[in-house]
Amino acid sequence: TNDQLGKWDRESFFHPSTHLGQFARGEAPQRIVTGGEGVYITDRDGNRLLDGFAGLYCVNVGYGRQEIAEAIAAQARELSYYHAYAGHGSEASITLAKMVMDRAPDHMARVYFGLGGSDANETNIKLVWYYNNILGRPEKKKIISRWRGYHGSGLMTGSLTGLELFHKKFDLPLAQVIHTEAPYYFRRPDTAMTEADFTAHCVAELEALIESEGPETIAAFIGEPVLGTGGIVPPPEGYWPAIQAVLDKHDILLIADEVVTGFGRLGSMFGSDHYGIKPDLITSAKGLTSAYAPLSATIVGQRMWDVLMQGTDEYGVLGHGWTYSAHPIGAAAGIANLKLIDELGLVQNAADTGAYLAQTMRDALGAHANVGEVRGEGMLCAVELVADRDSRRFFDASEGKGAKVVAAMLERGVIARAMPQGDILGFAPPLCLTRAEADEIVSVTADAVEAVLG
Ligand code: PLP
Repeated sequence: TNDQLGKWDRESFFHPSTHLGQFARGEAPQRIVTGGEGVYITDRDGNRLLDGFAGLYCVNVGYGRQEIAEAIAAQARELSYYHAYAGHGSEASITLAKMVMDRAPDHMARVYFGLGGSDANETNIKLVWYYNNILGRPEKKKIISRWRGYHGSGLMTGSLTGLELFHKKFDLPLAQVIHTEAPYYFRRPDTAMTEADFTAHCVAELEALIESEGPETIAAFIGEPVLGTGGIVPPPEGYWPAIQAVLDKHDILLIADEVVTGFGRLGSMFGSDHYGIKPDLITSAKGLTSAYAPLSATIVGQRMWDVLMQGTDEYGVLGHGWTYSAHPIGAAAGIANLKLIDELGLVQNAADTGAYLAQTMRDALGAHANVGEVRGEGMLCAVELVADRDSRRFFDASEGKGAKVVAAMLERGVIARAMPQGDILGFAPPLCLTRAEADEIVSVTADAVEAVLG
């Protein structure tokens, strides 16, 4: 029964990103999800909800795709698992590697498969350090990340993440990690700044940080093409080329964390293509399998690859790998998923329907007294709530206005995400969203904003 499951859940399981005490005491929401079809999920209480966040921006092809389910089942029957150590492969993992490299930017050279975004970023940092050790500059170790960046929740990746919640009470960030300004134009320090001024300001902050730390101590810069969990914030005009120029000048590697943006979410196959970024490493996960199975990819650029290869000659076997690296079932899901993205034209739909969603949202809410900004890129959209739009005054965090609007939306059948820092309603629907479904998201958002904020 529902009651029995709820009790087992509270008594047996502790959930990620959940208030542990409240949940265990039965004071926090519980939802048991039972099925999904297209952009909708169903739960045991009989609700059918439009999932405006595609799980955690990952179910990109939508729920219930039988092609992927069949591919997983066929792989499990034929070869459920074999490891990838010491040159072992499976047809599925090799085929997927080829498909990923065919889609990756031209200068990328090789791919390594893990399980999720956090472990892929751990792999990235190890590769960066390995690279500098091979080059005989072990002091070049620090990693620069941005405030509000999200890169995972492990020890290193939680350190890279620039959100206080992920540091507080964990003794993080680790000493090798330093943070710089978030490219968040709406929250620029001075409202008189144009976008171009603000980009120049972010670049100057980065240069000052590099100078004060010493460029010879800085190994890499990591950033999401569009800030995701930190607020769904597309970069200000000219940001990426200007950042790339600074990094090149100081021989600092660039890691593009494309866990959210990889495989189509911005309306381009990769965010790096979208913004003309030339990264040394690309992290991807979510969209690689649309979350039908856990799988991540670390894609290495040519200039790093040339050095990494020398390292294994000198040091022997690469001391890195997981039991489940390149898991055949994840790979089978990835192959079927990438085929579906092509067949259904989902990258283009992310561009077209994503633009429609953002525009419709702007039309419905752009003039509301408590909406500071509606922003979007591809199939990502955010509505930032403010107490007063003229003075750009934010609500007090304790009021939880964003969470209240999201709760009111849920009552009306649409899932959005209250982003963790600030009153920001986040939208990242499956890339197969239709215009009618976009309309449903917008009308429910407008109703809920009206109900909570008037
Ligand atoms: N990087 C980015 C940009 C993410 O958004 C996420 C997760 O949301 C991660 C890394 C971590 O991925 P995972 O939760 O699969 O470990």
